[in-house]
Amino acid sequence: MDLSKLTPKQILEIDACTRCGECLRFCPIYSQKKEEAINPRGKIQAMKKFIRAQYGLWAKLFGAKKLKEEELKKFSEMIYHCTLCGECGLQCPVSIDSRSLWLALKEVLVDLHYYPKNLDLLKKNVLSQYNITGEDNTLRTGWLEGVEGLPVHQYQKEKAEYAFFVGCVSSYYPMAYKIPQSFVTILDKVGVDFTLLGGAEWCCGFPLLGAGFKKEAQALIQHNIDAMKEKGVHSVIFSCPSCYHTWHESYPADFHLYHSVHFILKLIQDGKIQFKEEKAKVTYHDPCDLGRASGVYEAPREILRAMPGVEFVELADHAERCKCCGGGGLLEMIDPELGASLAKEKIKQIQATGADWVITACQQCIRTIQTTARKMKVPLKVQYITEFVLKRMA
Ligand code: SF4
Ligand code: SF4
Repeated sequence: MDLSKLTPKQILEIDACTRCGECLRFCPIYSQKKEEAINPRGKIQAMKKFIRAQYGLWAKLFGAKKLKEEELKKFSEMIYHCTLCGECGLQCPVSIDSRSLWLALKEVLVDLHYYPKNLDLLKKNVLSQYNITGEDNTLRTGWLEGVEGLPVHQYQKEKAEYAFFVGCVSSYYPMAYKIPQSFVTILDKVGVDFTLLGGAEWCCGFPLLGAGFKKEAQALIQHNIDAMKEKGVHSVIFSCPSCYHTWHESYPADFHLYHSVHFILKLIQDGKIQFKEEKAKVTYHDPCDLGRASGVYEAPREILRAMPGVEFVELADHAERCKCCGGGGLLEMIDPELGASLAKEKIKQIQATGADWVITACQQCIRTIQTTARKMKVPLKVQYITEFVLKRMA
């Protein structure tokens, strides 16, 4: 087992786990599947055992023990059964940055060839077509057809100050088309000089990083940086929290990065967006990669509170404590049933608020919540925040 994928801090973190079990109370996967091996503590203890077998005192004296195939298989299954929601890290009294640790452990497992084989298709799609679907990358802008009053340049300019990085899900899944459609309409209405990259936008790399293929993501990262520079862009705006977080964490470039909620709030504060009054009882779901991973909690709430007629109510678990909707960490590919059971819990919490609307700022959360609500026959109105804003703009 090659530990070079782990930083010295991560190796210390594995050793530092006190087995206190605080993380167990918050892990959404463990709440569904009560298996010790699947919870954060169980994963860390399993890794500790592997490290001891290969690098401990016994290994130094008598040679490294061979790792058992069934143990590695089980470990891989447990590591990939995770939404990367980051709740465990937030609650850990010894501050183990577990989200980063899970990503590094996936790299270790990829190196050993112990990972879910359906991730190979994802890798193939992203590396050959530069998007998660495997469709031609020039079809990224199909959603533009639904934009009213589309200008001749179709928002694909030679040069611009801002770029809107749309992301794979909003570009290719018709269910999410309203997200970029509403956002470009707002940007156009208020006169922002922005461009899209069109077919030159490549997947941000998050699906590869989230699967453990870190090395393979580097070409995508470099390509996207170069494409932005070519257009003279100084700021990049994202509607996808995972793209936003990935650019923050893994892109060695100094663009200003905004999530759509930052940008909409800035437009409100600059007096460029005003609202008409419309009554609605609304709750907000914090996407894991925007909330816990990026620390963005207030901007979407400030937007909703700025709207006259909107009564805002919080979910029982909100902000840092907001539960994953089940759509995170590639769980949809690994164990869709488990993802759906997390989504059902989320819908029950939304219903308990009495809100008519649930607003969020992530296309994946929209897909997960909306699909599960339909299956449960719950009449829930789910919208991305830019759609909700556009409908109420004066
Ligand atoms: S990141 Fe979330 S799902 Fe994964 S182990 Fe931690 S709490 Fe559980
Ligand atoms: S909360 Fe932290 S120290 Fe406690 S068992 Fe979980 S990972 Fe280990």
